[in-house]
Amino acid sequence: MSNNIVVAIDGYSSCGKSTIAKALAKKLHFIYIDSGAMYRAVTLYFLRNNIDLNDSGQVSEALKNIHLNFHSRDYQTHIMLNDEEVSDEIRQMPVSENVSAVSAIHAVRVEMVKQQQRMGKSKNIIMDGRDIGTVVFPDAQVKLFMTADPKVRAERRFKELTDKNPDLTLEEVFENLAHRDYADTTRKESPLTRAHDAIILDNTDLTPDEQLQFAIDKITPFLKEA
Ligand code: C5P
Repeated sequence: MSNNIVVAIDGYSSCGKSTIAKALAKKLHFIYIDSGAMYRAVTLYFLRNNIDLNDSGQVSEALKNIHLNFHSRDYQTHIMLNDEEVSDEIRQMPVSENVSAVSAIHAVRVEMVKQQQRMGKSKNIIMDGRDIGTVVFPDAQVKLFMTADPKVRAERRFKELTDKNPDLTLEEVFENLAHRDYADTTRKESPLTRAHDAIILDNTDLTPDEQLQFAIDKITPFLKEA
């Protein structure tokens, strides 16, 4: 039996999941996998190819033509969609506005979960997303459920996006987050929900260092066992 360690980080949109996941991966020398980037890359492919989300034939045909790969350089997310680096493009608004609809499709989730489980089979990994502790790795040794005040989240996200998108307003970002939270928590397929054994981490008033220490304290006992 494999005794690798899996850390599952779930939570609402833009509450710092990837920031803490990257910092943890770097500190502990784990592999970081951004599952949201996978749903975003699928969404980008669907948008570029005008896939009708209600046409299950088109969706499953498209899924067969999508090959995703991560390049784990410097613990950042470098995601390749059919050998093209799309790490920046998947963060833009057209993808953000459509990703919740795409990720609610059963066939899309089945394919992504299969790939994610394969990635976590034998290595120490940190994966962040919405269903990692509930569906993808229900047996993960450490599960964190992250949350933060919606206004604080929108302000953080706005700061990240505004350089490359000078016309974007804080209201648009807030609306997009509210919409995604609603869609992600109310969808039929694997809705965002806290696993019963997940530890809540509300980072509204925490510094990145404080969050990191909180998580390391939870993971350390498992490092000694492994
Ligand atoms: O994490 P990020 O905000 O980049 O995720 C983008 C979207 O992908 C989410 O709003 C959600 O709809 C979807 N997602 C998901 N399950 C995951 C990760 C992301 O449904 N495990």
